[in-house]
Amino acid sequence: MRKDFLPFTRPEVTDNDIAEVVSVLKSGWLTNGPKNAAFEEKICEYTNSKNAVALSSATAGMHILLESMGIGPGDEVITPALTWVSTANMIVLVGATPVFAEIDRDTMLITPESVEACISERTKLIIPVHYAGAPVDIDAIQAIADKHNIPVVEDAAHSLGTLYKGRHIGGTNTALYSFHAIKNITCGEGGMLTTDDDELLKKIKMYKFHGLGVDAFDRQNKGRSPQAEVFEPGYKCNLTDICAALGLSQLERIDEINAKRTELALLYRELLADIEGIEPLHDPVGYDFKHAWHLFIVRVSSEKINRNDFMAALKEQNIGTGLHFRTIHLQKYYRENMGFKPGDLPNTEWNSDRICSLPLFPAMTADDVRDVVTAIKFVLNNA
Ligand SMILES: *Cc1c(COP(=O)(O)O)cnc(C)c1O
Repeated sequence: MRKDFLPFTRPEVTDNDIAEVVSVLKSGWLTNGPKNAAFEEKICEYTNSKNAVALSSATAGMHILLESMGIGPGDEVITPALTWVSTANMIVLVGATPVFAEIDRDTMLITPESVEACISERTKLIIPVHYAGAPVDIDAIQAIADKHNIPVVEDAAHSLGTLYKGRHIGGTNTALYSFHAIKNITCGEGGMLTTDDDELLKKIKMYKFHGLGVDAFDRQNKGRSPQAEVFEPGYKCNLTDICAALGLSQLERIDEINAKRTELALLYRELLADIEGIEPLHDPVGYDFKHAWHLFIVRVSSEKINRNDFMAALKEQNIGTGLHFRTIHLQKYYRENMGFKPGDLPNTEWNSDRICSLPLFPAMTADDVRDVVTAIKFVLNNA
């Protein structure tokens, strides 16, 4: 058995990252300022997006995005149920109704067919998730959305560095990235909205800082004009420069980080290939893509042990795991208030009961991967 505990993830913070943060702390300007501006610019460059707005989190970004699009009571928003709870929560909090699209059992990605089946006269927005770092078939989903004249916003929280047909996520659309501590690069907490829609951009900038008609930081004035006034009551979800400096420094290494993740993920695939009852996610088929490997997810379909016991047994072997995610539609609030019940989304539920994220972070070694696989074999053999 492994001597030291291998966590499911660990953020990689280099000396350069730390020096960049310290330089902000010494600069006399802590909240959003030049580091935010530089971070936005670099994300635009990297993803080939027209505009980017740094935010305190992807969740906050989703909130002001829904507000900016005027989504509210009576409106429906299509998204998967097997995702982080924040999307559905924000939809509910603005008074709209989440409509959960079924996923493909093998890839856990929503399909164009499942999205189309959810469209009604009330549909105001479609939010696909590029799960674990693999892209959904966004062209096919976009074509359906265009046919019905419905906008699409891509949840890119797992997919910084993902390519779909050679394009970065959100390069020609609106997308939301997250820089929460477990994501491929991190600010501690943080998010970024990219968009090619100038009107939307204006609203996001307004809502992210109290509804003032100007940004929090005016490069010419070295600060906000004291004459700025409220156009519409807004929120407070700007990113500090302390956080932006960390994100900016990490962004320089994104391709290196993802290459390391890919190497580890491919080794997992190879070593797990013959283990019965452990099913890694499949690659999507039908389009060219590059995986960002945010997560390495397996489905525990063994007859000998269920997922929860599997996770507990691995922990006893000093291997940490994660659960990304429990389906939203069967969580207490959604069951009790929105009438969802088991059986509504069979592929989603099958996965929700079986998924487990294995350790995956850039500082891991091939031997760490081998330790995980050894522990998995031990757990299965002793179940
Ligand atoms: C992390 C995550 C979010 C939310 O990101 P925050 O920055 O933590 O608000 C949204 N969607 C998915 C799929 C995520 O994994």
